[in-house]
Amino acid sequence: MALDPALRQQILDSVEAGFAEQLAFTQALIRFPSLRGAEHACQDFVYRALRDRGFAMDRFAMDRDAITAHPGGGPWSAEHSDAPIVVGLHHPRQETGRSLILQAHVDVVPTGPADMWGHAPFDPVVEGDWLYGRGGADMKAGHAANIFCLDALRRIGLQPAATVLVQSVVEEESTGNGALMTHLRGYKADAVLIPEPEEEMLVRANVGVLWFQVEVRGLPVHVREMGRGANAIDAAWRVVGELRALEEEWNAAKAGREHFAEIEHPINLNIGKIEGGDWASSVPGWCRIDCRIGLYPGIDAGVAAREISERVARFARGDGFMGNNPPVVTFNGFHAEGYVQPPGSEAEAVLARAHQAATGQALRSFMTPGYLDTRVYALYDRVPSLCYGPISENIHGFDERVSLASVKRITGAMALFVAEWCGVEPVSPG
Ligand SMILES: [Zn+2]
Repeated sequence: MALDPALRQQILDSVEAGFAEQLAFTQALIRFPSLRGAEHACQDFVYRALRDRGFAMDRFAMDRDAITAHPGGGPWSAEHSDAPIVVGLHHPRQETGRSLILQAHVDVVPTGPADMWGHAPFDPVVEGDWLYGRGGADMKAGHAANIFCLDALRRIGLQPAATVLVQSVVEEESTGNGALMTHLRGYKADAVLIPEPEEEMLVRANVGVLWFQVEVRGLPVHVREMGRGANAIDAAWRVVGELRALEEEWNAAKAGREHFAEIEHPINLNIGKIEGGDWASSVPGWCRIDCRIGLYPGIDAGVAAREISERVARFARGDGFMGNNPPVVTFNGFHAEGYVQPPGSEAEAVLARAHQAATGQALRSFMTPGYLDTRVYALYDRVPSLCYGPISENIHGFDERVSLASVKRITGAMALFVAEWCGVEPVSPG
């Protein structure tokens, strides 16, 4: 049932009243350089913030065996984070509403050269409407919104009349294993909301993602006898050409696919990192490239991975040098399938009402060609999984920034969503 207009206004006013504190909290999150494997201190901070608010707390490590055995688990690599997952549980006095998971990740991607930033990457400077900083938009602003939309209810003496789980995860930028671990831990709710920076829109469809590494071994010789050697960097470059051909084939397969056919280039292959060679005057004996490619929803990640391996192997067989020195393809991260959030769910209707009330606009939806943790809840819990969050610029780039006016609007929408989806009751005493 739609919220009473007076209550709606009271909730939005309460978000406004708490916004200075919400901004300070977001800035505190950004100050943690919570790169992959270095999220421990940030997770401790989140743990304390939730505990001090009266949540029942759960903090747990990832179960490598359980994740590896799951079809959506990303293969472990030496870089895999061992930071804990943190979950805060709100239990109502009386469970009368629908339960909810509010999820966010604290891991952030590397900054690149700091001299290409206008401000230091982990210095959360505010200029006009923009809050700067690596991980601010993706997604510490959303992380704070998860907590502060509940604070907004509490400020006016209300709390959700259903169980709410606030999940703080890691590994979202590399495997999605943090979100998967919350599922394997047994947590489930009637709906999930993840406030990733989605331009105040709802994600309707989302690609799956594979990470893989290709390693080429060459024949190192002095450059004076270059003809006798084999250049591993040149060879890796030839492999990249073949992978680009595969990418174009996968993009051509968009024809007739709902949510994808109208997108110009829905499947993006990224050669994200390259290492190789040792010396300018030595023919390089090794080269390694780190790659990422998207998958249409419904494509089995294992099948796609095999296609990539076989494609590289076949290409190598026809290559003078690599025929005898086949490249090694290793899957070392995301092994994730895409999802479609079908329209018409009650959760989406509630979010649309909340969004309309908080922003004055109708809720729009779109397809996004980047990985989202929402896939875990959509594919394996099979509950409405709403990815919806603030306006941002330059995520994963330089001078990443998030619009504060937008953060306030989406926090208002989230508070209204919680109030209607879960229902509200007077706060528990103590
Ligand atoms: Zn993100």
